[in-house]
Amino acid sequence: MARYTGAVCRLCRREGQKLFLKGDRCYTDKCSLERRAYAPGMHGNGRNKKLSEYGLQLREKQKAKRYYGVLESQFRDYFEMANKKQGVTGDNLLAILESRLDNVVYRLGFAMSRAEARQLVRHAHFTVNGKKVNIPSFLVKVGDVIELKEGSRSLDKFKGSLEANGSRVVPKWLEMDQNNVAKVIAVPTREDIDLPIEEHLIVELYSK
Ligand code: SF4
Repeated sequence: MARYTGAVCRLCRREGQKLFLKGDRCYTDKCSLERRAYAPGMHGNGRNKKLSEYGLQLREKQKAKRYYGVLESQFRDYFEMANKKQGVTGDNLLAILESRLDNVVYRLGFAMSRAEARQLVRHAHFTVNGKKVNIPSFLVKVGDVIELKEGSRSLDKFKGSLEANGSRVVPKWLEMDQNNVAKVIAVPTREDIDLPIEEHLIVELYSK
């Protein structure tokens, strides 16, 4: 699956918000948004236009895509999936995005960013229900058990990440034991998702 390979800090500057795409660096004064809090490009610094309704909806969609590292066609597919499910489409959409395996790996503290989590999944460090899964977009479901594959458990990289991310709260819909074996115990709800996304704007955009 394709992914964005440009400079990620530009994405935060475009959205005017920290999207935390670079791990550690995002929490330091080296963050590009701290130093240049305006849109990228030659006229970025002078651009202060009030957004139209469409512009607001578009920016919200772009922001959500960027948080989760998803490109347009896949994001659109997720919207269609969400729309077909029972319940509130916006909530369904966020629940689907949260259920991606790369996001789960990030939420559990195995990686500093979703981009890093995606790479770790691609390198087949994780199993789901005992089977190796190297697809970042794999959607976990209630009852799935996620763990590091045996050969990766002793790697210093994971010990370091889990230690460094120790203060990050594992969301309520996931459970992790002291052996770092995780289980999906519920479908993520909107309250479980701490991202400042106004999902109703995305639904409005796609419903036009
Ligand atoms: Fe965004 Fe992190 Fe870059 Fe700051 S350092 S602009 S939060 S990706």
